[in-house]
Amino acid sequence: MAPVPNKPGPARPRLTPADLARRWGPVAVWAALCFALGTWTRPLLSWQVFACGLLLAVLAGGLRLARVARWAQDTETPLPLSIGPWDDALAPVYRKLRKNAIEMNHMQQQIDQIMLAAQALPDGAIALNETMQLIWSNRTACEHLGLDPERDKNSSIFHILRSPEFASYARQESWPASLLLHHQSGGHDKALQVQMAPYGVGQFLVVTRDVTQVEKLETTRKDFVANVSHELRTPLTVLSGFLETMREMPEGALSAEQKAHYLKLMYEQARRMEAIVNDLLTLSTLESSPAAEGTPVRVALLVHNAMQQARALSNGDHIFVENVDDKLGLRGTETELASAISNLLTNAVRYTPKGGTITASWHTTDDGRACYSVQDTGIGIAQEDIPRLTERFYRVDRGRSRGTGGTGLGLAITKHIAMRHQAEFSIRSRHGEGSVFSLHFPATRVLRHLPVSAA
Ligand code: ADP
Repeated sequence: MAPVPNKPGPARPRLTPADLARRWGPVAVWAALCFALGTWTRPLLSWQVFACGLLLAVLAGGLRLARVARWAQDTETPLPLSIGPWDDALAPVYRKLRKNAIEMNHMQQQIDQIMLAAQALPDGAIALNETMQLIWSNRTACEHLGLDPERDKNSSIFHILRSPEFASYARQESWPASLLLHHQSGGHDKALQVQMAPYGVGQFLVVTRDVTQVEKLETTRKDFVANVSHELRTPLTVLSGFLETMREMPEGALSAEQKAHYLKLMYEQARRMEAIVNDLLTLSTLESSPAAEGTPVRVALLVHNAMQQARALSNGDHIFVENVDDKLGLRGTETELASAISNLLTNAVRYTPKGGTITASWHTTDDGRACYSVQDTGIGIAQEDIPRLTERFYRVDRGRSRGTGGTGLGLAITKHIAMRHQAEFSIRSRHGEGSVFSLHFPATRVLRHLPVSAA
């Protein structure tokens, strides 16, 4: 078997005469100086002087060694001044220490960056040790679970997240799926998606995501689908009922008046469905299209048109008052503004009993905004119902709304249009005392002297 060659160690640097002179020069100079001094003062004492010199050199070496030993205790302090062989011995140590310090500093910077990134994560992150005690958590996790990283350090996660579902989830062997957890933190109910994962040696990572809004949206979506189905099912049932009756009736069993009456009722139901579908389409368009900056709109003209429609709907049952600044315009989307203006006016007619007064105003306010408002002396709305009026399909009086051809979507559409124009939509009302519905448009959209050609 061929002998295994020894692994060559690091090559020793060859000493040049200059290196030797630098290393031993000071000692030689010192020895020569002592000897010369001894010879010059008294030839006979030259060796004694030389010996004294050497003793001094040894003492100086000891002193330097003590200084180096002190420096070794705290290498952060500057290296003691050294010459000759001392410099040769200490300089590489010092260089190595400096290199290590720079590398450590660099690594610390990288760790700090990683920690900053972990803190900024939009998801919560919690590191647990092998006994499921908290080692570290980021800011988002603290918000999600109401944690205090200092106070709760080393606390068991089961004390922090006191939930039987989480306890049985955390005790699983592996975590292929996440867990949906409802947690109370800071007085708020939160829906958290929790995912555990093993990492390192026997450590665990818990990732939390706040899905409260997603859950709310999902509930709203489900409610909406249920409401739409319900709203459409009623007229559809009536319609198919009549059709069934007419189909099964023997020829000539229905008089011409009965037939006309049935057809009229069926037509009304079909119109109702059409109105609902149209409003749903309007809402969907408003939600899916981006809000445009718009063009100059002559709002006064839209109010006049809406007033005419309202008068036709009222059929002479109400008194109408119009306070409109004809020159006041607005930058916006004309079709949307027309829809909002008309919604509020037709509602006023529908919810104001015979003889009531309906006032439509369009003017600027003291703070430079433009305000469109519709005031009526109608049935009014109870305080507890006001915040819910802009919800889809919310009606105070279902029968009255349907009886007057309402879809339950008019105010939801109006609110959407207001939002798209950065307008503030407000409702003031008292049960039995009438209502005021107002839209306040921001000063940035107001056109004070709109030329007639812009209409
Ligand atoms: P609807 O088609 O049912 O009128 P809206 O969204 O326009 O739907 O209005 C929602 C509810 O707000 C109505 O059902 C009604 O109860 C109430 N409401 C709206 N406008 C008025 C008003 N001017 N006076 C009293 N109640 C009103």
